[in-house]
Amino acid sequence: MGKRQKKSHTICRRCGKHAYHVSHRYCAHCGFGRSSRIRQFNWQWKDVLGKGQRKI
Ligand SMILES: [Zn+2]
Repeated sequence: MGKRQKKSHTICRRCGKHAYHVSHRYCAHCGFGRSSRIRQFNWQWKDVLGKGQRKI
């Protein structure tokens, strides 16, 4: 694993995860740069809201 020097993702300034794509200029986790809203799906509500909070 010596040739892994290109970093495609860096730390997102909105969600803080290492998912912000440098050349595409959007975050793969929260969608920052692609949409003004935070990227969110129904199957992610457990992560977003915390355990035990589930609607539907
Ligand atoms: Zn993000």
